[in-house]
Amino acid sequence: MTIFALLTALLPLALQSLIPASSHQRQQDAVCLQIQEDISPASTVYFPGDDRYTAGIMHWASSSSENSICVVEPGSSEDVAAVRTSFAVKGGGHASNVGFSSTTGVQIAMSRISDVKYDAHSQTAEIGAGLKWDDVYAALEAHNVSVVGGRVSGVGVAGFTLGEGGFNNFGIVTKFTLKTFPSKGVWGGFQYVAGTDLAQNAAAVADFCANVTDPKANIISNYGKGYMIYLHLCLLACDDTNSFLRRPKSPPPGIFDNLLAVPTLFSDVSSRNMTSFVKLVPDSIGLRGAFHTVPILKFTPSLLDVIANESAFWGTKLAPKGAGLITYAIEPFQPDIYEHNPDKTAYPPVRDVGYLPLNLYFAWVSAEFDEDFHAAMIASGEVIRQAAIAEGQDITNGPLYPNYAFPETPLSEIYGENVAELRRIKQIVDPKDIMGLAGGSKF
Ligand SMILES: Cc1cc2nc3c(=O)[nH]c(=O)nc-3n(C[C@H](O)[C@H](O)[C@H](O)COP(=O)(O)OP(=O)(O)OC[C@H]3O[C@@H](n4cnc5c(N)ncnc54)[C@H](O)[C@@H]3O)c2cc1C
Repeated sequence: MTIFALLTALLPLALQSLIPASSHQRQQDAVCLQIQEDISPASTVYFPGDDRYTAGIMHWASSSSENSICVVEPGSSEDVAAVRTSFAVKGGGHASNVGFSSTTGVQIAMSRISDVKYDAHSQTAEIGAGLKWDDVYAALEAHNVSVVGGRVSGVGVAGFTLGEGGFNNFGIVTKFTLKTFPSKGVWGGFQYVAGTDLAQNAAAVADFCANVTDPKANIISNYGKGYMIYLHLCLLACDDTNSFLRRPKSPPPGIFDNLLAVPTLFSDVSSRNMTSFVKLVPDSIGLRGAFHTVPILKFTPSLLDVIANESAFWGTKLAPKGAGLITYAIEPFQPDIYEHNPDKTAYPPVRDVGYLPLNLYFAWVSAEFDEDFHAAMIASGEVIRQAAIAEGQDITNGPLYPNYAFPETPLSEIYGENVAELRRIKQIVDPKDIMGLAGGSKF
């Protein structure tokens, strides 16, 4: 670069430094500069304009990203504790609720804490809290083992896991120790089904929900009306029942047969590794977005009809307001899903009933319509809830899955009778309420 070019490049910066900063700006800078002084060389503070700042505040839903005064990337547990001002802690940044892992204060981005340590002896893996599931599966594949985690690209280990344990209420977690199991991969993928074949597909989904008892087989059936066509997405994953030592070439018979018989617009189901499976769904699409949930006991054909109608109705109604995706994800777990763990957990407060968290996900373009989409989700969730009750499903007191619940959801509707106990624990582990400086639902 010539001297002239260098001076031209530096001139705007020089001029900027001559403009007096507001006292608010100076205070903000002082907070971040102090953090910079307090932390070890393992960690770094990034300011607006830096690529790492932009990556640090970025969230999967654009509506969940806020402009922070600076981003801190801690590289050690000690440095995690250096922030003593309003802050947010972000794992994978997939929170759909604004302010849960975003802030106008200091954004703590855990991305630097990213080790995966597999211990073959204890059959466990220590996983850094800044990791996304994609990276964890990839690291463990080298050892022919895997862990139970997220199903699509980009979801963070931290929020996903802490979603059953009280999120950031009790402190900032730096690593998780997860049980591993042998795995050489999965058989699974996508199927897109046209609206004209929805009835056949709904029958196959309802049949799967009612009759498949293999705990290694699962589907996620996603109803949506995207622009011109109905989309139906199935994620099918199943390990070979007889041997973990080779990758399943095909699923055991009788599990997915009906689903595979439905005509598809597009299908990408094959034997593959877990990394390729999660990457089937693209990470962020840059839209505003929100989740909502209804606890369901049984996905019957008639309830699936109601859900299909809701997706068609709201897809059409919200299209003029810039709807991107209007989807309803059916996630049929085994009825005894919560009985495998005898320990008490924050969520679910009841473990003897297998409530299934129906996921509503609406995505849209402009902040102007935030309230319309919110109201639509509430209304739609209520229609589905009432339909399930009318079918005789006892879901009145079904707890709402924290990772899908709206921000204003009362704690009792998520954690039930556990709230008092969770508040007591919070008092013990965080008596000064340091975590009160971070956003999200608070005990
Ligand atoms: C595309 C997509 C697919 C999804 N699929 C599934 C699914 O299949 N199953 C499912 O159960 N959920 C799913 N979810 C929901 C997901 O589990 C939650 O959004 C989850 O909270 C995301 O975790 P994260 O680390 O990416 O989020 P973040 O936004 O980083 O964090 C979420 C919450 O966890 C807190 N947190 C993060 N890191 C820490 C830490 N180190 N210490 C303390 N608190 C922390 C944050 O402060 C925040 O309150 C999905 C979400 C998306 C967007």
